[in-house]
Amino acid sequence: MGSSARLRQFVHDNGPLILDGGLATELEAQGAKLQGDPLWSARLLHTNPQAIRDAHSRFLLSGADIIATVTYQASIPGFIRHLDVSAERARELLMSGVHLAKETVTRFDSGHQRPLVAGSVGPYGAFLRDGSEYTGAYAAEMSVEELKVWHRPQIDCLAAAGADLIAFETIPSIKEAEAVVELLREFPDTTAWLSFSCKDGKCISDGSLFTEAVQVARRSTQLLAVGVNCCPPDVVEPLLDSAASLQSPDMSWVVYPNSGEDWNPERGWKTSEKLSATIPELSHTWLKQGAALIGGCCRIGPALIAQLRRELKGDCTPAASAEPS
Ligand SMILES: [Zn+2]
Repeated sequence: MGSSARLRQFVHDNGPLILDGGLATELEAQGAKLQGDPLWSARLLHTNPQAIRDAHSRFLLSGADIIATVTYQASIPGFIRHLDVSAERARELLMSGVHLAKETVTRFDSGHQRPLVAGSVGPYGAFLRDGSEYTGAYAAEMSVEELKVWHRPQIDCLAAAGADLIAFETIPSIKEAEAVVELLREFPDTTAWLSFSCKDGKCISDGSLFTEAVQVARRSTQLLAVGVNCCPPDVVEPLLDSAASLQSPDMSWVVYPNSGEDWNPERGWKTSEKLSATIPELSHTWLKQGAALIGGCCRIGPALIAQLRRELKGDCTPAASAEPS
């Protein structure tokens, strides 16, 4: 696990860094059936690890500087329940998410710096599979301590497996943010980013102001960045604006919206006729607002990440010079 200071310096020297897009989206584009699966993309750790390597490769070929592991909806209890495996095997599977990503980035090592691997941790609501990662409703019934108990084994596995950092993603509530901020202290060598799901241009999903959420993140010295993901691209600018006064040199913004299409837990994604401006178009604004980590979430594939990279870095994929073997 890279130290926070080293990673901060790396982002400072090389930013903005390009994140990948929706890993599950790319896996589905290649034929994986994930819709309705309680483990979502994490099932492929058990059934088709090669598909995960291939999807990681395609984002790296598109110029991603950081890729996230397939572990968003992975948990020890989830693997035990839905794969009928032992706790030990469940741990191994979770860790294998990091190993697969690290194997893949190694093939894209330019000799200067290999791409980084972020160990993805979804909210407790992702395990519930009822769309509550976009409301945070469950947090009202849970204590910070209970949320820490839930997240601890996943963080432990991802850190032990050697993730460069942890990505807490689509976090819908202040309480869950408090839980992960407290939990991080138990893993003092671990760096992370904390990214919220949002309701509109001012509030995170549970209705709290984004500024409050940023203030919680600021309690941690291990957070490299705080921000938003899986929201429509057009809410990012007002959200970052609302918290502009809280920005500090030690903590940048991380931004990776979805395509702006509508999602429903029963029906899945609904393609709308009129989409708002796209991530590559809006990325210059976010960069001016101080975003250092920019990418995509659901419905964002490798082609759009390549476009984003050209837009922000003016180069096409230095990583692509190293063809995956
Ligand atoms: Zn998403």
